[in-house]
Formats: sequence, structure tokens, C-alpha cells
Amino acid sequence: MTEAQALVRLQEIDLDMLRLASTLAAMPQQKKLQAIARARRKVESEQTKIYAQRKDLETYVSENQADLDHYRARTEEVKAEVASGSHNYRQIQDYEAHLTGLAKKVEKLEHNRAQLDDDLEKAKRAESNANLTLKRLDEEEAVQKKSFETDSAQIRRKIVTLDGERKSVASQILPEHMANYEAARKRFKGLAVERLVGNVPSVCRVKLQPASFHDLTHGGDVAECPYCHRILIVDDPYAEGDDK
Ligand SMILES: [Zn+2]
Repeated sequence: MTEAQALVRLQEIDLDMLRLASTLAAMPQQKKLQAIARARRKVESEQTKIYAQRKDLETYVSENQADLDHYRARTEEVKAEVASGSHNYRQIQDYEAHLTGLAKKVEKLEHNRAQLDDDLEKAKRAESNANLTLKRLDEEEAVQKKSFETDSAQIRRKIVTLDGERKSVASQILPEHMANYEAARKRFKGLAVERLVGNVPSVCRVKLQPASFHDLTHGGDVAECPYCHRILIVDDPYAEGDDK
């Protein structure tokens, strides 16, 4: 392989690798994996909120329980005092008023408690649903990853093969030409090399002036296009192993 042929092949390899990389990126599993990642972020942020709600509710429930315990115990104490001896009418009335006050407090706490228990139950259900959703997303992600591995295996093998060939082809190109190629590749979005076909470069297709044509065909195989400044390959089209 001449250096000129190596440059042409290098460009073919690079264009193939670009195409294969965008094929990989466009595979349907990639889109699904992105959607799964978005869904997971959303559920995780909901989960954080639900967790904080549940913690608050648990605190309220235990405060409610402590108050209930206190007022129920107090009620028993007052009842015991009433039963403990003889009291006059005035004292009985005071006890009754006290007991009524305590009963109202207990009733209010019980009413709040029913609502708290209800809310806590809802928060726990939401938390468990979020966990289930995350588990389902993990499973779906594993399925998509596996499917991507399988469907992309052939493409990934091709990329590895091309990468190996690229190293061997690049070793046949002078460092100076390699540097020109890398710079032109960026500048021309991959199409850094063109070939002279008759007196027309294959990419920019601007017909060469006779003087330029004469100079180019009497110089080296690797030149620069006077118009677009791509690397211009001026090799013999009938060269060995070259049928393009
Ligand atoms: Zn050109």
C-alpha cells in the first residue's frame, strides 16, 4: 500500500467509524435508556418528598399518642379521686367540669389522630409505590442494556476491527501528512482527502487549470488541492491493488 492509498483508506475507515458510532447512538434502546433515566430522576425526587412527609407524620403521631396517654391517665386519676371519698356538691361539680374538659381534649386528639393515621397510611402507600416503580425501572433498564449489547455486538466488533486497521494504516503515513489529515478532517467534517479523477478533484469538483494539472501530475502522490485545500491524491489509478 502506497502512502497515498493509505491516506484514502484512512479516510474510509474514519468515515465508517463515524457512521457506526451514530448508528449505535441512534439505536432504539438508547432512546429508551434515556427515558428510563429521566423517569428515575422524577421518581427519586418524589420519593425524597414523600419520605420527608412520612417522617413528619410519624413525629405528629407520636406526639399525639403522648398527649392521649397523658389525658387518658389524667382522666383515670380524676375518676379515682371522685370515687375515693365523699365530696360536697361543689367539689363534685368541679370534678365533673374537669372530666368534661379532659374528655373534650381526648376527643379532639382522637379526631386528629384518625386524620394523621389516614395521611400516614397514604404516605406509606406512595412510598411503597415509588419503590416498586424504581424496581420496575431497574428491570426495564437491564432488559434494554442487554438488548443493546446483543443488537450492537456486530457493530462494536466492526469498530474494534476498524480501529486495529486504522493503527496499521496510519503507521504507513508520514507524521507530517498525518497531522495535515487530522487538521483537515476536523475542518472538512471528515472529508479531508480527495482524489484526482482525470483533471477534476473528487470532492470539490473544480476542474484544474492545465498548468496546475501539469504541476500536480509531475509532483508527489500526496498534494494539496489548489481550490479547496484538501489533501489531493494524485496517484496512478492503475496502481497495484487499486481499483477505485
Ligand atoms: Zn478540492
